[in-house]
Amino acid sequence: MKIAVIGTGYVGLVTGTCFAESGNDVVCVDKLAEKIANLERGIIPIYEPGLAELVHRNHRDGRLRFTTSLPEAIAEAELVFIAVGTPQGEHGGADLRGIWAVGEEIAKALDEPKTIVIKSTVPVGTNAELARRMAQTTDIPFDVASNPEFLKEGAAIDDFNKPDRVVVGVRREEVGEQLHALYEPFLRTDRPFLIMTPESAEMTKYVANCLLATKISFINEMANLCESYNADINEVRRGIGHDQRIGFSFLFPGVGYGGSCFPKDIRAVIHMAQSRGLPARMMEAVDQVNEAQKDVLVHKVMDHFGNDVRGKTVAIWGLAFKPRTDDIREAPALVLIDALLAAGASLRIHDPEALDNVRAIYGDKLTYCDRPYGALEQADALAIATEWNEFRNPDFEVMARLLRQPVIFDGRNLYDPARMAALGFTYHGIGRAKVS
Ligand code: NAD
Repeated sequence: MKIAVIGTGYVGLVTGTCFAESGNDVVCVDKLAEKIANLERGIIPIYEPGLAELVHRNHRDGRLRFTTSLPEAIAEAELVFIAVGTPQGEHGGADLRGIWAVGEEIAKALDEPKTIVIKSTVPVGTNAELARRMAQTTDIPFDVASNPEFLKEGAAIDDFNKPDRVVVGVRREEVGEQLHALYEPFLRTDRPFLIMTPESAEMTKYVANCLLATKISFINEMANLCESYNADINEVRRGIGHDQRIGFSFLFPGVGYGGSCFPKDIRAVIHMAQSRGLPARMMEAVDQVNEAQKDVLVHKVMDHFGNDVRGKTVAIWGLAFKPRTDDIREAPALVLIDALLAAGASLRIHDPEALDNVRAIYGDKLTYCDRPYGALEQADALAIATEWNEFRNPDFEVMARLLRQPVIFDGRNLYDPARMAALGFTYHGIGRAKVS
């Protein structure tokens, strides 16, 4: 099939590349000329495991092309995917200006019937409103389908190639069949292809993210309670997880969720409810609990140093909002950095992929370290904000030698408190019982 993908970010680039890899002819569009020029030269704008190799191969073989010209990209396309950002706008709702702008451009360029597919996460009613707006600009018939994306950054290629399910919202059966044919290669192991109304498809994405974010805020609240009563959240997790109604997934306590999706999607749902005069008490609580949780390491560090970190140096491992990505949008580590800088601490930071993105914000206010151990040199403590695999089994003897004081604030519960105590560390986890 001939496909255009508008928006070459985490979702658009992965979508376009995976469709090309399955034999389609794909043109990816972005309004950022530098991004497109780099992609043309084989420079991938984001870190996503496995993506670079696939982009290079499909570009070389001519199945994946890049352009800044939307009219040129959609000229031949049967399917036009919209994957532009839908960030948080004023009053918490999703900012849909990118969607409307792309819709307008597509409508102006349309010279034959096509299917427009909204892959971006958008509030219920966006599909209908986009169709209404486009019909004001063009007389050529078109369909607007909704196909929310469930991939996770850090595992995006795998998630796209082996989705748990594909959800499409369509108003005509033929459009469902067209999308089914496109997704057929990704559904080989009997993955469900779920056809529904565009409104249900739009809502499905938000409901999924709301439930996942709820699990995180829930376990964080329980972890804080555990800590206060000297119970251990890790033991409690085992105690509840074997219950088949509960399970283990997404119930890891930490420093709160971040990223470009959960925070804005939860707020978009709150805004959707408010717009209809409905309460959104649970989602408001999920958001509030998460905002408070992002401060949990800050409080622990400040408590440890008697509320005065002036002249102290803190090392931070992990800056991306989660492992295996360079994405720092709404990352909890940034809250920690801001608070400790404001309180007068010096920071030596390390992340395997996100250092450049952090440097673009903080410039020379921080010391950037290419290696995890380098960050520890002359530091008074280590704080861990992201659970990269390479932090899971470090050489604790080397760490103890490099740190001025063997103190660890572990925002991801990577280590065993009893072992850390035995090694001579002062160890602060999340929701852990005190070692007696
Ligand atoms: P992103 O910010 O990484 O990328 C968006 C891209 O769209 C940018 O490169 C931007 O330059 C481009 N763009 C914006 N307006 C444009 C226009 N008018 N013409 C051409 N290009 C334009 O965003 P993302 O993280 O890929 O997310 C895209 C959408 O997918 C959002 O709605 C998001 O909520 C949703 N989503 C994201 C993820 C994720 O893990 N990142 C997962 C599922 C769904």
